[in-house]
Amino acid sequence: MRDQQMSQAATRRLSKVLAGGIGSGGRIDHRGLFLTEGTGARVTDADGHGYIDYMMGFGALILGHRSAPVVDAVQAALGQGTMFGAACPAELELAERVVACWPCADMCRFTSSGTEAVQAALRLARAATGRDKVLKFEGHFHGWGDNIYVSVKASVHSGLNARPHALRMTPGQPETVLSDVVVAPWNDLPALEAILSDHGRDIAALILEPYPTNNGCMDSGAAYLQALRSLCDRNGIVLIFDEVVSGFRLGLSGAQGHYGVTPDLCTFGKAMAGGMPIAGFAGKRDLMALLEGNQVSHLGTYNSNAISAVAALATIDTLAKDDGAAFARITKYGRSLTDGFNEIFRRHNLPLCADGLGPVLSIFAAATPPERYRDTLTHDAALLARLHQALLAEGIWIFGRGNLMIGTAHGPAEMDETLEKMDRVASTLTNGKS
Ligand code: PMP
Repeated sequence: MRDQQMSQAATRRLSKVLAGGIGSGGRIDHRGLFLTEGTGARVTDADGHGYIDYMMGFGALILGHRSAPVVDAVQAALGQGTMFGAACPAELELAERVVACWPCADMCRFTSSGTEAVQAALRLARAATGRDKVLKFEGHFHGWGDNIYVSVKASVHSGLNARPHALRMTPGQPETVLSDVVVAPWNDLPALEAILSDHGRDIAALILEPYPTNNGCMDSGAAYLQALRSLCDRNGIVLIFDEVVSGFRLGLSGAQGHYGVTPDLCTFGKAMAGGMPIAGFAGKRDLMALLEGNQVSHLGTYNSNAISAVAALATIDTLAKDDGAAFARITKYGRSLTDGFNEIFRRHNLPLCADGLGPVLSIFAAATPPERYRDTLTHDAALLARLHQALLAEGIWIFGRGNLMIGTAHGPAEMDETLEKMDRVASTLTNGKS
């Protein structure tokens, strides 16, 4: 067992002053980890232990920790000012660059977080349609806003798979929000068609993760997304791809480029800015023009702040180099890791499997990958938790829910070390020692 004295002392101090001892609910699975430094694909904790980082800032650090283009751009921009609260060159350049990336985009706006971007996109859809209801999929996550933090997880109160009930995810969320959210099962077109035949004309927006990752990576293919596009067209519904994870990760044009299906609006964030806080939304002119003259409101003190904007420019420029070679590289790496994990799980006869498109992948505690969110409810969550903890003790840091984010800083040395340690951990799991 690694000595964790310094980390434990810091965690105790934190727990007295930082509510719950964590800065975000999403960090609960690695509470106790106290990190002091990050370089490339690796981080170091307060006790000097190293970890290969597959959290990568929840996907934000696609170029790794302290990547030179981002650090240089930020340092240079600091000399000119951190924020202006008015238009500046970085905002102009970034808007032009982002609009060129997204197939759905004629125009964009920036926010400080994905949660805010989703709120703005939903508001635009409501304003454009004059309808109030939003349709979302069970198991998909779109930030923590009261009105959409709904049915991210199922419970005994979730009802039938074909007609999930809308469920609040936290005490403190008003029950009234549920009257405007309709929930559908992912990857089940007949169920969705039935829901739309009841509610279709009341629904402003269908929002989804086109490549869902928040309950494990699920690639449902282009034909399914195309069917969603057609259903939205038929019912006058604004189609919103929430690309906060898939954007600037599956490619410069995100999931819409990967699958060749174009939504009306998209949201993006995370991987676009090498770890600096910036996100945004983009879409067709008729929708985005509603922001003209503040007909529809979207605000934010830190929107397009100069430091985040230059970090985003540096990240996008780096990702765009050599015809997107970075994406080919992280896809290849992620696929090799997926194959390597599956070989290890098979050899140790463990009910685990890995799956995903490559740039973000998931380990599932089941013999085969899920096709629908509710498939994951029968997975062995305790086994996944043991795997996560055992890997952490070996210096491999993955998401508690089994995801791994691949960045351009991961290379052959990380791959070999990860597979070697996974093999060791798998043998302890088989023996029930972990
Ligand atoms: N949408 C998706 C698909 C996400 O995964 C997340 C964050 N994990 C968000 C929205 C919210 O983004 P943020 O944490 O930047 O508010």
